[in-house]
Formats: sequence, C-alpha cells, structure tokens
Amino acid sequence: MRQGHRVLLDAIVVGVGGMGSATVYHLARRGAKVLGLEQFDIPHEMGSSHGVSRIIRLAYAEHPNYVPLLRRAYELWRALESQTGERLLIITGGLDAGAPDSATVKGSLKSCAIHHLAHEVLDAASLAQRFPGYRLPSDLVAVYQPDAGFLLPERCIVAHVGAARKLGAEVRAGERVFRWHADGGQVSVETKRATYHARKMVITAGPWAQTLIPELKDLAVPERQVLIWTQPLRPEYFRLGAFPVFNMDVPEGRFYGFPVYGVPGFKVGKYHHRCERVDPDRMDHGCHPEDEALLRVGIRRYFPDADGPALDMKACLFTNSPDEHFILDLHPEYPQVAMASACSGHGFKFCGVVGEIMADLVLDGRTRFDIDMFRLTRF
Ligand SMILES: Cc1cc2nc3c(=O)[nH]c(=O)nc-3n(C[C@H](O)[C@H](O)[C@H](O)COP(=O)(O)OP(=O)(O)OC[C@H]3O[C@@H](n4cnc5c(N)ncnc54)[C@H](O)[C@@H]3O)c2cc1C
Repeated sequence: MRQGHRVLLDAIVVGVGGMGSATVYHLARRGAKVLGLEQFDIPHEMGSSHGVSRIIRLAYAEHPNYVPLLRRAYELWRALESQTGERLLIITGGLDAGAPDSATVKGSLKSCAIHHLAHEVLDAASLAQRFPGYRLPSDLVAVYQPDAGFLLPERCIVAHVGAARKLGAEVRAGERVFRWHADGGQVSVETKRATYHARKMVITAGPWAQTLIPELKDLAVPERQVLIWTQPLRPEYFRLGAFPVFNMDVPEGRFYGFPVYGVPGFKVGKYHHRCERVDPDRMDHGCHPEDEALLRVGIRRYFPDADGPALDMKACLFTNSPDEHFILDLHPEYPQVAMASACSGHGFKFCGVVGEIMADLVLDGRTRFDIDMFRLTRF
C-alpha cells in the first residue's frame, strides 16, 4: 500500500550498487540523515557490480588525471577495511600489456612517469619466467605496477551499507524509484511504497541512469558484458601470489583477468565484449557458446595453461560515456541533485572516492577533487 513519508530527509540516494552504497556511507559520515533506495537486493547480480572481483590499479592508462583519485580510493578502501574488520582489497601486482606503442602500454607508462609510480617494464621472456601463466608473443611488453590488485565488489557494497547504517543511514531494498521531482530547493521521490522528501538527492543508478535523467540518453549507454571462469590446467600458475591482475591490449581486443580467488577458476573478461548496446531491464543475463568462444580466443593464445573447462560465466553491464570517462556532476537544472554514472567499465575501484565527491557536491556544491574532466558540460 502507498504511504506518505512526512520526514524531510537531508538526502536520498537512488541506486545502492557500487557508487550508491559508498555515497550513502559518505553522506552519513558527514552527518546527513540519508535514505538509500535500491530496486533489487543488496547486493544483486542484475547491474554492474557483481562477479567476485574488480581490478584496482594505480598506473592508469585511461588518463593520468585519475591517479590522485586513485590514491584517495586506496586510502578509503583501507579505512573501510579497518572500520568493518573485513578484507576488501587484495594486492597482487598488475600488468598493462600490449605492443610498446599501444594505448594501454603508452598510457600506463605516462601515468607512471607523471605521478612517479614504482613500475618495471618486462619483455615477454622475462614475464613468462616471473609469472609463468602468461604467454605473450615476443613483440609485446608488460608494465608491472606492484600496487595493483583487486577488490571484492559484493563485499564492498555490503561493507559500505553496513558502515552507513551504523551511522544512522536507512537503506531500503526492493524499492524502485519510478519518478522524482525537484521543486523549491527540495526533491520528492516516488516508489510503489511511498513518496519521500529530501533537501538533496544523488542518482547513482548505473546502467539505469538515463531512465531517471533523460539528459543522459546518449551519454550513459548500457552495454552487455560477459565474464568466464575456467579451470586452469596448471593451477599453480594462476593462484594468488603467482599471478598478477592484468589489462592486455592485443589484436583480438582488450582482455583483463584475475588469479583464482573466492570461487574456483581463472577469471577473464573482454572490454566491450560483443559491443551489444542493451536496455538494462530487458538484457539477456544468460551466457552462450558465442560468449565463451570470444573469451576462449584470448585464453588459448595468451594463457594456454588456463584453457580448461568453463566453471562459470556471468553477464554484467557497462555504462559507457562517449569518451569513456565518468560523469560526476550536479544536475544541469537542479543544483540539489548530483549524479555519478557512465563509469565505462572501469569505475568500481573509485566507488569510495566517488561517494565522497557526491557527498561534497550535494552538501557543499563543490569538491576539493579535480573533476573537470568528468563534468556533464564537456559534451
Ligand atoms: C564485467 C565487468 C567488469 C568490470 N571490471 C572492472 C574492474 O576490473 N575494475 C573496475 O574498477 N571497474 C570494473 N567494472 C566497472 C565497474 O564494475 C562499474 O563501473 C561499477 O560497478 C558501476 O557501479 P554503479 O554503482 O554505477 O552501478 P551498479 O552497481 O549497477 O549500481 C546501480 C544501482 O542502481 C540501482 N537502480 C537503478 N535504477 C534504480 C531505480 N529507479 N530505483 C532504485 N534503484 C535503482 C540498480 O539496481 C543498481 O543496484 C566492470 C564492470 C563490468 C560489468
């Protein structure tokens, strides 16, 4: 039954996935009376933040301007770990591999140079000697950065929500926001259960962002992705401690992967998989032989010792902006509304710092972080 909800909250966060759980936490940490609304369970497997692991790395081929945000992101993940007593971040070292003139290798080296990051450049032979799971052709190189590793995304969401609730935040699952309205410096948000009122709102709806902010229609585009876990033929090469996470820019596409952790199997994905633009409410969550075939190409060629039977596959969603940089900004018409979206397949590692930025933007109208390259006005 619909009920009115008379309390005027300080802030409502729409979407409690990766970014939203962190935003609820950072708003609560700053003393705001905050409500997080999530359409599914917390966590769930229908959006962008499931599948056991997400890479975090300091050397950032996408743009060196991400590095200061990454430094803060590492600090915040460590702080959340101490606060919750949970292990959320596992350091493995990381590789950005490809031809020496590829965007991945050049970009990674550029961010290392500008931000004085510890790194080594390995040729294919020395890479195979040190990390025998890797079998790169001799014309490729890899930038090794020791601070890289992976996060446990489902646990990160649970940790943020748990820590936020301890600070007094309220989080409601199974409650989809189907309409919002901004007026006179306030916001009202409607779900099937109630209408909620707040001074501020943050929309962290991931692949659903354009359903709540029509201005994002061609700027936050959902895309189907698939992950596979295979049984290694030489498990000792792919165990934690023997295998760094990687990003690999090769003629077949850009692959990324992880050591065996949490569930059995060596995990691999390919950026932009089959380039399928989708409606997140109608996406095919099944995984098919065509999906496996595409991922097997990379495994067979570059990780032949991991080419055993498939143990699991999962579909997931990217939300891409045209330049593949995030959208972090206030709403163009309503300054009491902020948004974080279009994290373009590389956002999870930033959840904590994005949560902090969202709290700054709605509570203060500004943030100490340089977010010029993430503003909506750049389009
Ligand atoms: C296969 C794959 C691999 C990736 N690998 C990496 C990686 O290695 N490293 C990395 O840093 N990043 C990676 N990413 C990207 C990263 O996972 C995403 O950028 C990040 O998870 C996005 O988080 P989000 O909060 O925007 O979206 P989500 O976590 O999907 O959260 C959005 C939430 O909003 C909810 N919602 C939407 N609309 C409504 C509504 N109307 N009412 C209520 N709730 C609503 C949704 O149900 C959802 O829970 C990967 C992504 C995928 C798909």
